[in-house]
Amino acid sequence: MPLEPACIENTATELTFGEILDQQGLNLKRGKTATLQINTGFLCNQACRHCHLEAGPLRTEVMDRQTMEAVISHAQKVKYEIIDITGGAPEMVPDIDFLMESLRPLCGKLLFRSNLTALFECDRNDLLELMKKLKVSIISSFPSTNEGQTASQRGKGVFANCLIMLKKLNRNGYGKEGSGLELNLVANPSGAFLPVSQCSAEKQFKRDLARKWDITFNNLYTFANMPLGRFKSWLLSSGNYDQYMKKLRDNFNPETIDGLMCRSLISVGWDGTIYDCDFNQAAALFLGGSKQHVADFTAPPPEGTPIAIGDHCFACTAGAGFT
Ligand code: SF4
Repeated sequence: MPLEPACIENTATELTFGEILDQQGLNLKRGKTATLQINTGFLCNQACRHCHLEAGPLRTEVMDRQTMEAVISHAQKVKYEIIDITGGAPEMVPDIDFLMESLRPLCGKLLFRSNLTALFECDRNDLLELMKKLKVSIISSFPSTNEGQTASQRGKGVFANCLIMLKKLNRNGYGKEGSGLELNLVANPSGAFLPVSQCSAEKQFKRDLARKWDITFNNLYTFANMPLGRFKSWLLSSGNYDQYMKKLRDNFNPETIDGLMCRSLISVGWDGTIYDCDFNQAAALFLGGSKQHVADFTAPPPEGTPIAIGDHCFACTAGAGFT
């Protein structure tokens, strides 16, 4: 397997991510790989402005049964601590139940990323019951406790449907103390801004959701939007790209490097291709610099292997970081 990192070409005059790492005597290499992230495809019921994958209702790429079987066989050999199922909207993928049931015995923790409205629209009570039975942890995007902000980022009607689903998840025990059913939320800014402090945002979300709608959850994560895919197109068309990249560069925090998720995770795309992270999938940067299929991957990359980088990595290293 080639070990040289790939790098996105940068035409701007500012230093690239790789140059900043060099300048500060840093490098981005793998530690122990403990997490397998699986992107089940780009089909989604929403087409959010901030989506780094350009997922949406018209996308047809979803993981087929054969690729799922290759992923399961890989996970049987490696025994990951955490397996993280994402999309698109994984709820909309045929055979998603098969994938979850097969992976659950193979890892300590199984995560399922939901935008909540896909769960609502699919009306999949059976899927909710299965997740509960398997004690799958749910991670839901929920950008704001403000309806207008949520609508501008994710579309009209999304906010109300998210609240309905959160209440339903609470009724099923998710996000309730002592249930062992984790419900975590993810918030990201609605424009070309850095996220607010995770700690204070979590307090505010917990207070507002409990007071206004009697909803509880476990943890809130705040992330910067990735300058890739649909969000990059929006940055460019709205004239915000250069200023946003400058903000990310100016807030580069070397202390985030050790905790970056790409140091401990590999990501499998819907077609079985392996990446260092889901963002590199959007940037078409392959793990190890060349296209490899999960079926040919019998072990995680060794510690010390270089990670493919590009200027989108500035979004992971700005401020408190994206870990
Ligand atoms: S985008 Fe983030 S997680 Fe992916 S390689 Fe860059 S720093 Fe690592």
